[in-house]
Amino acid sequence: METMPGKAPTYGRAPQSPRRTPTGRVSEALLDRLASRIATQGIRDAFEVRIPFTGETLGLLPACAPEDVRHAVRTAREEQLRWARTRYEERAKILLRFHDLLLDRQEEAMDLIQLESGKARRHAFEEVIGTANTVRYYVNVAERILRPRKRQPPLPGISTTWQYHHPVGVVGFIAPWNFPLLLAVDDLVPCLLAGNGAVLKPDEQTSFSALWALDLLLEAGLPFGLFSIVTGSGPALGPALVEEVDYICLTGSAATGRIVGRQAGERLIGCSLELGGKNPMIVRADADLDRAVKGAVWGCFTGAGQVCMGIERIYVHRNVYEPFVERFVRQTRQLRLSASLDWGADVGSLTTERQLRKVVEMVDDAVQKGARVLCGGRRREDIGPYFYEPTVLEGVTPEMRLHSEEVFGPVVWIDAFLTDEEAVQKANQTPYGLAAAIYSADVESARNLATWIRAGTVTVNDAYPLGWGAVDAPMGGMKTSGVGRRHGEEGLRRFTQAQTVVDNRGPLFAPPAGEAGARRFARVMTGLLRTWRRIPFLP
Ligand code: NAD
Repeated sequence: METMPGKAPTYGRAPQSPRRTPTGRVSEALLDRLASRIATQGIRDAFEVRIPFTGETLGLLPACAPEDVRHAVRTAREEQLRWARTRYEERAKILLRFHDLLLDRQEEAMDLIQLESGKARRHAFEEVIGTANTVRYYVNVAERILRPRKRQPPLPGISTTWQYHHPVGVVGFIAPWNFPLLLAVDDLVPCLLAGNGAVLKPDEQTSFSALWALDLLLEAGLPFGLFSIVTGSGPALGPALVEEVDYICLTGSAATGRIVGRQAGERLIGCSLELGGKNPMIVRADADLDRAVKGAVWGCFTGAGQVCMGIERIYVHRNVYEPFVERFVRQTRQLRLSASLDWGADVGSLTTERQLRKVVEMVDDAVQKGARVLCGGRRREDIGPYFYEPTVLEGVTPEMRLHSEEVFGPVVWIDAFLTDEEAVQKANQTPYGLAAAIYSADVESARNLATWIRAGTVTVNDAYPLGWGAVDAPMGGMKTSGVGRRHGEEGLRRFTQAQTVVDNRGPLFAPPAGEAGARRFARVMTGLLRTWRRIPFLP
């Protein structure tokens, strides 16, 4: 293979090919091309990306160094100056082309997502819809949101106030592995539309999917270097990234959020931290039970439960507790687990050995302390090394780790309640506050109940994808689930610096010289303020 300057020849395809795992449309040539997109400036040690379905190696990628991060940010900074001067329509055209290419090439994208994450194809498809939905939405609204706006002037009639939004510059992104494509692109779209450059550090396990997105953006016309990817470990590259950029955007665990937030605070740069959850679902006595059971199965076991907004606790009204549990357990038992790239599987694999170990430990801890396993609770090495059966528990108490800690696996526990107040109190009893779901025949009253739950997104009579899909509204966490919001106007404005320009066509707004002048000025101003408060149409 030809050696590119600054590139080791071994990145890309796995060295032990041919592999036994079917890789669908993901050819070795594609893996090589994706690896060549990485912003490395020298020969680096390689790390392996394993296929969760079998444990085989998918490919090798360079463990970038902090100097690669600095170089990527410098390049993005140069490109950003040009990009910020392009017309909005030009930026929008590139992103819409990306949208169309993504829909055309979705099969290749899903093959790669599945090979890196181990999720079932139906769950990989969520990433395609989610990404396309965000791109279309922001392309259509960003220009209006960012347009200079006239605001209320301080001196009505003689002055004007304008609000402008400027790009912050270069934004750093740190992404997790559970939505390899969606979380590589979702926040990047508004960031680019607002005129910024960007550097992304994806999780090591799912870097090929992020590189696939970069490759497609370049094909769609994004200027080379405006957005780059550095691959490698978080502790090795994260600090250098936060050190260099003008804003940092992390999606990951609360523990990493604290580290990144602290560093951003020291630099006085803005940050948004999208962190974990321990999301509750409430089933009221009047709920359509078939719908609630289906919603629970989807909400708990999508992506083998490795979904930040997924359900990990279900509270069911005592009057419908038995029928709900009976149906939910029956349907959970029927879920087909499979390590395949076709559409047949209901649930796929956990993504890493570390994640499997965490699930096993937390379920064992609960069982040892007295929790009852209603179904699941077993590894399925016969299907693949990291498979774990969808698991439903009962009798979970606060001393068990999985009572309040995020499992991030196919594990949910169920409890009963009698009143709405009790349901809300139980739903709010963890330090997290990311998402929640309520099932009820009375939508109005369920919506009111939702406002008492301390969670950033609550879905009524549906599972979490509906909440994620509401891209015109902010999404993010309360309490330890995060800082800041993605989606909606907030999700775009965070990538800008607001600037206010005020003018005055009347006399200079300052007290005249001398004591008498200052007293007169104070009298006139006091009178004006007293009158102003009584004019209803002037805020
Ligand atoms: P993690 O925090 O360990 O890793 C996430 C990213 O941070 C990875 O790219 C990792 O390399 C990087 N990282 C790790 N240590 C770092 C450090 N010291 N400095 C800088 N970067 C560092 O999280 P994880 O456990 O791998 O991912 C799952 C978590 O992400 C779960 O808690 C899940 O709920 C959360 N999540 C949240 C959302 C959301 O929208 N709120 C979405 C998806 C996942």
